[in-house]
Amino acid sequence: MAASMAAAARRLRRAFRRSPLWGGLSRRPFSSEPPPASATAVRDAFLSFFRDRHGHQLVPSASVRPRGDPSLLFVNAGMNQFKPIFLGTVDPRSEMAGFRRVANSQKCVRAGGRHNDLEDVGRDLSHHTFFEMLGNWAFGGEYFKEEACRMAWELLTQVYGIPEDRLWVSYFGGDPKAGLDPDLESRDIWLSLGVCASHVLSFGPQENFWEMGNTGPCGPCTEIHYDLAGRGGAPQLVELWNLVFIQHNREADGSLQPLPQRHVDTGMGLERLVAVLQGTHSTYDTDLFSPLLDAIQQGCGVSPYLGRVGAADEGRTDMAYRVVADHIRTLSVCIADGVCPGMSGAPLVLRRILRRAVRFSTEVLRAPPGFLGSLVPVVVETLGDAYPELRKHSAQIVNLVSEDEAAFLASLQRGRHIIDQTLRRLGPSDLFPAEVAWSLSLSGNLGLPLDLVELMLEEKGVQLDSAGLARLAQEETQHRSRQAEPAQERGLQLNVHALGELQRRGVPPTDDSPKYSYSLRPSGGYEFGTCEAQVLQLYTEDGTAVASVGKGQRCGLLLDKTNFYAEQGGQASDRGYLVRVGQEDVLFPVPRAQVCGGFILHEAVAPEGLKVGDQVQLHVDEAWRLGCMEKHTATHLLNWALRQTLGPGTEQQGSHLNPERLRFDVATQAPLTPEQLRAVEGTVQEAVGQDEAVYMEEVALARTAHVPGLRFLDEVYPDPVRVVSVGVPVAEALDLASQAALQTSVELCCGTHLLRTGAVGDLVIVGERQLSRGTTRLLAVTGEQAQQAREVGQALAQEVGAAAERLSRGSQDVVEAQRLSKDMGRLTDAVDTAVMPQWQRRELQATLKVLQRRANTAIRKLETGQPPVPLDRGSAFLPPRFVHLCSSLSPSPSVAYL
Ligand code: ATP
Ligand code: MG
Repeated sequence: MAASMAAAARRLRRAFRRSPLWGGLSRRPFSSEPPPASATAVRDAFLSFFRDRHGHQLVPSASVRPRGDPSLLFVNAGMNQFKPIFLGTVDPRSEMAGFRRVANSQKCVRAGGRHNDLEDVGRDLSHHTFFEMLGNWAFGGEYFKEEACRMAWELLTQVYGIPEDRLWVSYFGGDPKAGLDPDLESRDIWLSLGVCASHVLSFGPQENFWEMGNTGPCGPCTEIHYDLAGRGGAPQLVELWNLVFIQHNREADGSLQPLPQRHVDTGMGLERLVAVLQGTHSTYDTDLFSPLLDAIQQGCGVSPYLGRVGAADEGRTDMAYRVVADHIRTLSVCIADGVCPGMSGAPLVLRRILRRAVRFSTEVLRAPPGFLGSLVPVVVETLGDAYPELRKHSAQIVNLVSEDEAAFLASLQRGRHIIDQTLRRLGPSDLFPAEVAWSLSLSGNLGLPLDLVELMLEEKGVQLDSAGLARLAQEETQHRSRQAEPAQERGLQLNVHALGELQRRGVPPTDDSPKYSYSLRPSGGYEFGTCEAQVLQLYTEDGTAVASVGKGQRCGLLLDKTNFYAEQGGQASDRGYLVRVGQEDVLFPVPRAQVCGGFILHEAVAPEGLKVGDQVQLHVDEAWRLGCMEKHTATHLLNWALRQTLGPGTEQQGSHLNPERLRFDVATQAPLTPEQLRAVEGTVQEAVGQDEAVYMEEVALARTAHVPGLRFLDEVYPDPVRVVSVGVPVAEALDLASQAALQTSVELCCGTHLLRTGAVGDLVIVGERQLSRGTTRLLAVTGEQAQQAREVGQALAQEVGAAAERLSRGSQDVVEAQRLSKDMGRLTDAVDTAVMPQWQRRELQATLKVLQRRANTAIRKLETGQPPVPLDRGSAFLPPRFVHLCSSLSPSPSVAYL
């Protein structure tokens, strides 16, 4: 008996593991019952179940672009946006800090990175690169395993009416090696809910223990699966819902510690649920996909989609249908959230997705050019109500997709041409040169995926020099790692236990309001107050809380209050020093302050001992702080000027500033023209020239909600929130009737600002580049640096003018002509790298290109003895002033920052 039970369990486990591929023909309705619920109704039923029956707060989906989380390429689960709650780092003044039970439908992308389902897409009937994850959460022990399982069971069986005998559940069977017991609590909950014992199975950590990353919150999970086969035969299972119980923390040394607070985190794929409820075996045969499949059939004029998989799918037509339908959804959702196809990171993954879609649509479905873009409106129609940003950006999505499709098709054509040309030069047994393949590839010029290049060569019956290619790939990896920005040293952090302990002890968040106490003296200088505070807690480098630190020790200090600005909102952290009251001659340098869950941790190296309870006096580095204030106010003016120049819909995508420079990312359809760059600078200068007052005030977040022109970045804002407005008092700026936010700079911002705009002095945009399609990164300097940049620009413009004049005079001497050409090259290098106005750089670059061409023609003519061209014998070298400028500016640190 026991043996046969064990064998049955083994068979079932295999079924669980095999489950991702839903086999067989997919169009199989349950019966001729009333028409099944639409995907919209299924999504709504989930949300209203948790809101109305179980008191959950509904929160919107986060953008698929991860918010301040470099460990992710895309948001790939509902929990991503709640990570600060699990880690204990959530800002206590933010709405999120108050979340207890919430539910939502989250846009998820699983392509590239840790969760990568890209290769499965098209091959099976249940994995997508973009899918919607329905989830409910209980934070801080609001409820735990029993309620979570009960709610899930109630929803599936009573609300959605899924027959109980089609559902199977799994629970964590323990991990003796890690010292983890089986999660018998979950097992017993399922049994008590009436799940038949044979449908309750246990698995190991691989399947049923969830971890956020190598370290951090984690815990056992229990999964609900659906049996597609039914009727008591061999089950064919697909995972529907994963319920995670976060109760441990994986420490840096690999051990597990109990978390100060426990949480429930669940996720169910909407597409799979809809497939179950619409009585089909495939997510593609639901109303989420069928409009797309129909549009593909019509657009390509192919035979209808039949839902075949594997060998049965002759010519891979059905796979192509699935790939194209899946990928166009992913592209649309990502572009709407500001991730556009590009050259690295998430944009590169998106570019691959686009190219994969183009290949399947053109090669298998024989789609006409421009076809992919024509599918965007269908995506917008199916998902636009749930995710309005799709409607808002639909035109931009169509443009980007169409442009990229056209570019890829053109590359394909050129690629074929280059391959043909190369083959003509090769002997019959020669390998295809790696360098040529590389230049065709994504890493090289044409952007064709290497597997495609190989396929194209295979069609021609040629073999590629794979060893050479591997060598080139390795060289590129090495080159990239050399180029990579040095990893920023991570400052001291409060870990989840330290934060939990502070919260348990009821330690209030650090009062950092003194960071805003500064004033403008009548003389025009700023006066910054000092701040006296008490040491509440000290931390060693590894995050252990200690009562005292000794001489020379690097430590973290938690004080009851501070005037230091901790890094946030794109503004660099303050630096400065502190002294112990009564011992003012010993300075403790503080290079950085960081905020964690409302607590500000000051980093210091203690020249003397320090202990909890000591009184200290804090001094910020005033020049550094003033530099930040100047750049921060300039950033707001720049943001506003961009909207004035490019249109009111222009959106900021990010920014960062320190006293040296400011960096600003803006969503754009195309690179800014020199005229636009000049206009932006002009608008900023005007506001600076008027020396307007900068008003700052804290207001209730709700008051800012419907102010015309006031934009929210994808950030979690505290409540109350600070509003910074230029030239108009905050109350007036927020008055709905005033329209002030359309006429001047008004932003939600916690940064420290100048009190009048005049001190910005001047602003020059010294760099501009496309981060990815649709995003432009600007780099700007202010004040004296801006003046210098203008001077450099003028000097270079004069040099170019002089060179043009010399060239126009002509020469009879080939050596002289060569010298002039060389000077042109040097001038070009100088213009490329100097810190100067970007608009001027572009103009000079264009002029120099023409001059260089003319100089080269002159040389050619002289060399071939054609009629002589007059050329001035005068100074062909750059004057000393110019050489000095170039050597002091190049290589430019600012351009490197871009
Ligand atoms: P699978 O094993 O099927 O890949 P998973 O274990 O990766 O699923 P989870 O990370 O637990 O899934 O995600 C929660 C739920 O999200 C799953 O139960 C499933 O319903 C859904 N889901 C996960 N990945 C995908 C995907 N690529 N496409 C569609 N739905 C998905
Ligand atoms: Mg998976």
